[in-house]
Amino acid sequence: MSIQFLHKFTTNLPSDAIEENYTRQVPKAAFSYVKPRIPSNPKLLHISKEVQNLIGFSDDFIQSETFLHLVSGAAIVSNSKPFAMNYAGHQFGNWAGQLGDGRAIVLGEIEHNHQTFTLQLKGAGATPYSRRADGLAVLRSSIREHLCSEAMFHLGVPTTRSLSLTLTGDEVLRDVMYNGNPAMEKGAIVCRIAPSFIRFGSFELFSSQNDIENLKLLADYTISNYYPEIQSEGKEKYIAFFKHVAEKTREMIVHWQRVGFVHGVMNTDNMSIHGITIDYGPYGWLEDFNPNWTPNTTDAEGKRYRYGNQANIALWNLYQLANALYPLIEEAEPLETILNNFAKKYDEDFSEMMLKKLGITSKTEETDKLIQQILYNLEQTETDYTIFFRNLNQINKADSVEDCVSKIHLAFYKPEEVTGIILETWHFWFAQYLAILKEDTTSDDERKLNLNACNPKYVLRNYMAQMAIELAENEEYALIDELYKLLLNPYEEQPEMEKWFAKRPDWARQKIGSSMLSCSS
Ligand code: AMP
Ligand code: MG
Ligand code: MG
Repeated sequence: MSIQFLHKFTTNLPSDAIEENYTRQVPKAAFSYVKPRIPSNPKLLHISKEVQNLIGFSDDFIQSETFLHLVSGAAIVSNSKPFAMNYAGHQFGNWAGQLGDGRAIVLGEIEHNHQTFTLQLKGAGATPYSRRADGLAVLRSSIREHLCSEAMFHLGVPTTRSLSLTLTGDEVLRDVMYNGNPAMEKGAIVCRIAPSFIRFGSFELFSSQNDIENLKLLADYTISNYYPEIQSEGKEKYIAFFKHVAEKTREMIVHWQRVGFVHGVMNTDNMSIHGITIDYGPYGWLEDFNPNWTPNTTDAEGKRYRYGNQANIALWNLYQLANALYPLIEEAEPLETILNNFAKKYDEDFSEMMLKKLGITSKTEETDKLIQQILYNLEQTETDYTIFFRNLNQINKADSVEDCVSKIHLAFYKPEEVTGIILETWHFWFAQYLAILKEDTTSDDERKLNLNACNPKYVLRNYMAQMAIELAENEEYALIDELYKLLLNPYEEQPEMEKWFAKRPDWARQKIGSSMLSCSS
């Protein structure tokens, strides 16, 4: 099988004149041609069969040497001309100037079943955008990205995908210490897939350089390739584009909140113009429901990227995109209208989503209060977000409040503390909940089906990925595939996998979040 790369991005957008990998500023260019680093001993660890089928790679091809070369950067396969994308961005709320793909290399776009896919290697060596870093990725962060992108997809959350996880055979130095010394770690590469890797920061780059010609080229390219439904011309076209991006971004955030995903580093360079989740770095999953929680240790003080702030940050990022697109529109009002609608519509979508999580079919003032109260209860009593919502599928209209509490009891991290006034709060909440369910015409069975489609049973808890990582560091890779398979069907009961429907164990509480989850491992 030979791959036909389309070369659309590189044909339509301006390129860096220099074809060398050394670090530099690259003005007036959307990308630089680069050469992936040759890995010393590449070894394929895992393939997502689903992604393989999605992009039309045959089993024979996956087993070929050409494929190993392709996904490890060992050789540039025929017809491919790898490149790193240029972009800028705001990091933690501050303007950061040119960033670009410091450790990501696009192999090209391919077409299959009338869809186009961009293939990108993460961790395949330094590029002009690597600044002071090495362009590499370690096994632990690559396992996290590979598993989580696939888990998110099957949860129904818009996301980049991951085709493969490959060891490079090289060692990489990171901030992990063993016995007081910096430890070498295994290098790895993920081959990730998306329609494109164009980000908010791609537009910020040209806009910040006052390069309106290339800003327009990029916007026109993005719209004609990825938003063909936009038929208007002139400034209306760019307004429509911004509106679409804002809507997709909002939908993505509602999904994050639904499944308890915390991105951890929502800088504008990590915001896709497709409204898909991109850049699985220090992400984490809510375990006990805590809106102030962020998995990102770099953000421990500011908590900018905490669970409860993700919609605000998405909106803040959209303001930056609006500013970047402004020169093509030169009118603030239509952009402001879209931004104002974001906030309003987000609140509506969020409460609709929460009602679904509760299995309630109509919205009233009472149901709004019920949502407020449950979020309060979940936070006050350390309660597992996933287990609580999943176990609501056991509740029947005829239950007593005591029955209800015992059915969600597994979700409490400190069940011994759920007594007295705390227990009364829960009884009070369930009394209201049962009253609302009783008025609802949906039968218990029907409601349970709806609940099961909205509240996952299995998510990639932080400790699960951590277990797979620790085994993999000792060359035991079976758990990667076990978790991958488990997370193909996150809404289904999988009785033999029940062990993964469990609260975070105590060991994980201290260990994960101390040194594990910074930005660029
Ligand atoms: P992130 O926080 O992962 O979004 O990364 C921010 C910027 O740093 C992006 O431009 C990345 O390409 C770059 N970067 C992160 N890690 C590395 C690395 N190990 N080597 C080179 N560049 C990196
Ligand atoms: Mg990034
Ligand atoms: Mg990253």
